[in-house]
Amino acid sequence: MSVRVVARIRPLLKQELDKDVIVTSESTEGEGTQPTIVRIPNPKNEAESFSFQFSSVYEQETTQQQVFESEVAPTVKHLFNGYDTTIFSYGPTGTGKTHTMRGGKSLADRGVIPRLLSNIYRRCRKIEKDTSGATHVSVTMSYYEIYCDRVFDLFEPPEKRTASGLPIRDNHGKTVVVGLREVPCTTLKEFETLYDQANINRSTSATKLNAHSSRSHAILTVKITQTTEDSVLVSQASAIDLAGSEDNRRTDNNKERMVESSAINKSLFVLAQCVDAISKKQSRIPYRESKMTRILSLGQNNGMTLMVLNLAPVRSYHMDTLSSLNVANRTKKI
Ligand code: ADP
Ligand code: MG
Repeated sequence: MSVRVVARIRPLLKQELDKDVIVTSESTEGEGTQPTIVRIPNPKNEAESFSFQFSSVYEQETTQQQVFESEVAPTVKHLFNGYDTTIFSYGPTGTGKTHTMRGGKSLADRGVIPRLLSNIYRRCRKIEKDTSGATHVSVTMSYYEIYCDRVFDLFEPPEKRTASGLPIRDNHGKTVVVGLREVPCTTLKEFETLYDQANINRSTSATKLNAHSSRSHAILTVKITQTTEDSVLVSQASAIDLAGSEDNRRTDNNKERMVESSAINKSLFVLAQCVDAISKKQSRIPYRESKMTRILSLGQNNGMTLMVLNLAPVRSYHMDTLSSLNVANRTKKI
């Protein structure tokens, strides 16, 4: 099991063009090579700075295609060899987590998820062709969100939700969501229709529960089953758009927000604790203390995990950027 941690710094938004850029990247190998270091001033003494090293640092102008080709495409062959893969985006709200995972509508803007699916379907067709149909590959998916430590199926319309959400249970060492829909999906087109509708389901609840989508974790699981006459190989790819990692205690005041915030703070706090415990090789890892960490099972499976730390380069994110960098820094020790 390994976790690869990379950082992605988003470009300035239109309304930020006059803002102070404080997050920069550096390469240890000299000009023109891929940066691996993020540098940020010490908020207590700006004459000093902190630096954090990651496997790779993607600068502002990095395209969606570059992120996919360097970080995700190489994992697809492991997936088809039977290993599970997990990709998650972490960082404060507004730093590009959804952009990285889902992305925009145009082909060039598509994020990691639609690109991964496109790649998976291409490989399915190739395997079936290369084995003259002796290997059959089927793809199913589930997509749910965890909001206030409750699990909701995003393939169901919001009006079908029950207040308590779906229960989760341990099943042969894997944590499963009981009653979650697992939908067969045979083409990219089918996937896109399903995924778009599910994201509408996610944002419909958003208008009701203000900015809900940055306050929930969305988890897409793609299960691949390769069947021949005498063997079955199952593996899965999970792609997770986490809730914003900003300090939710600072700005919130109404009651609903307080409940949301404490749930987000708790699950991300537990995530950070799990990461810390794993990196220190402690025997007790507090997975069970939040649903998100139970399901994520970081460090428990035999697969590969990619964490993309999304960052905004401007000063208004200073403290949140620093705390996210600290969490990511511990994650890479797993
Ligand atoms: P988050 O999901 O972390 O809250 P978003 O993905 O919604 O953040 O991004 C916030 C804004 O920044 C959006 O308008 C998004 O289009 C823009 N954005 C984020 N990353 C990039 C990028 N790499 N290139 C261009 N625009 C980006
Ligand atoms: Mg988002």
